[in-house]
Amino acid sequence: MAGAHAWRIKRQVQAVAAAALSSTVSRRECDVVTRQKGRQRKRQSERTAAGVVRVNVSALAPNNSYGAPRFVRLGYYEDEPFTCTGCGAAQVWTAWQQKWWYEVAKGYVYSTAKYCRACRHREQARRTEAKRVHLEGVARKRARVNR
Ligand SMILES: [Zn+2]
Repeated sequence: MAGAHAWRIKRQVQAVAAAALSSTVSRRECDVVTRQKGRQRKRQSERTAAGVVRVNVSALAPNNSYGAPRFVRLGYYEDEPFTCTGCGAAQVWTAWQQKWWYEVAKGYVYSTAKYCRACRHREQARRTEAKRVHLEGVARKRARVNR
């Protein structure tokens, strides 16, 4: 008799736990969806037209130069065609890439894209290698002096 009672209570506890778990999971899923929708809405509101994205001046890197870059005067970023300095390929620096560079990476407000993706990676690798060789040279020199 007592055994059956205990079993019933155990079943009830399990049911409550399962219900609590499923409600937490679905609430969490709801949160994720709401957040995604919010982000989409934010992106939509920042986009003023195709290839054009609003500038958030307060997110820019501080600079003490007079005047303001073109995108600040305009209030938005525009897709910008440029020629790669490395290979001469025709490229487009998109409005969203510009927003990321100036507002997230905090790039200098008067710097612009110079290289295509492939050339940029090649240039970075070249610089890293040059730095390594330089530091090795310095270390060798120091070792000679200290001997
Ligand atoms: Zn290139």
